[in-house]
Amino acid sequence: MIEWLGIGHLLELSGTEAVLGFLTPLLVFIFFFLAQLILPGRWVPGYVIDPETGEPRKYRLNGLLVFVIALAVWAFELTGMPRDWFYRSSLYAVAGGTVLTIVFTILAVFTQPEGKVKNRFLAWWFGRAQELQFFNHRFDVKMWFYVVGGTMLSLNALSGAVYHYELFGEDANPGVFVYAGFFTFYVLDYFIFERVQLYTYDLIHENVGFKLFWGGLIVYGWMFILPLWGMAAVPSPGFSPAATNIWLIGSVAMFLFGWGISRGANLQKYTFKRWPDRTFLGIEPQVIEAGDRRILCSGFWGVARHFNYLGEGFLGLSIALIFGHFTNFWAWTYFIFVVSMFTYRQRDDDAHCAQKYGPEKWAEYQARVKYRIIPGLY
Ligand code: NDP
Repeated sequence: MIEWLGIGHLLELSGTEAVLGFLTPLLVFIFFFLAQLILPGRWVPGYVIDPETGEPRKYRLNGLLVFVIALAVWAFELTGMPRDWFYRSSLYAVAGGTVLTIVFTILAVFTQPEGKVKNRFLAWWFGRAQELQFFNHRFDVKMWFYVVGGTMLSLNALSGAVYHYELFGEDANPGVFVYAGFFTFYVLDYFIFERVQLYTYDLIHENVGFKLFWGGLIVYGWMFILPLWGMAAVPSPGFSPAATNIWLIGSVAMFLFGWGISRGANLQKYTFKRWPDRTFLGIEPQVIEAGDRRILCSGFWGVARHFNYLGEGFLGLSIALIFGHFTNFWAWTYFIFVVSMFTYRQRDDDAHCAQKYGPEKWAEYQARVKYRIIPGLY
């Protein structure tokens, strides 16, 4: 089965290495916990209101610095860990990380007062507290998830590229290196605009339960590179030089197009939330007033209600294409995941927003901006 799936190379560790692989997430979690706590950061007010104070929550952001330092530690092998280790230990790390996040979640949920959800399994899955902050707000669990998850995504992709190069040398697939570049760029961009994250779904709607613990740390950090589990063991597709240029340049252009949509939409919403009357890239904010809240319905938010998810869809498609093995199922796994997740998430967010802005005002927005994600289609 494993051989048929083409991931036998991920099960080649010795007994000792397997134990180390299982423990790798624990070491990573501790490293990031200390780095985030100790390294300098900037304090910013967030978007979500702290129910205890009635004021916006405070956050201490230093993701970019932590990311750069982690990248250097990995690249120069400062801990003695080989650069391909994260990739080679992927399956063991996912197993160990899953066990750890199950335990963490039990502690994070059942130390909190019982909320509306009485069923203990559902409480464990979705969480009870909206936020967990320690050391006088210095350490925020959700931002820790994203610093660990984002950085590990980039390091796992880079580690897979190193493994691929060591395996194939001259026959290596250039698409694998571009793929690692995609995610490193994606994560770098994310940390540059780290404050924008404070205005997104996870911070606003999610509680700290297993879904977010596992999703933020293990799925985002280790499993987003799922296509690479299969594709790092496959050599170059061997296209002619002209076809290689078309394939690589076309995929990179699609990636940048998707990123432009996603980043543009997120920044427009962020600008609107912080400075409601400010123009963004020449786009005047047009709004529907809903009591003391305002629904943005111009620019990116005027063509579809979640145009940012379409951007992510293009990113997913470019990732499927960048390997050049267009009929290999592994290449498509990330695309299938993002399309499923965002189809669900858009509907869920629509329902939340209808409740928050009032069904009538949200229906007015739906009538004005008809499409959910893809203008003219869906
Ligand atoms: P959004 O950033 O779209 O946040 C949704 C919230 O924005 C809503 O709950 C609402 O909150 C506010 N909002 C939505 N529409 C409007 C409007 N028209 N006017 C005013 N406010 C509005 O969602 P996400 O957090 O899901 O996404 C953030 C980014 O992260 C996206 O680019 C997404 O693609 C990316 N992402 C990528 C993932 C991946 O797997 N690749 C996973 C998750 C996210 P409120 O009214 O309270 O402000």
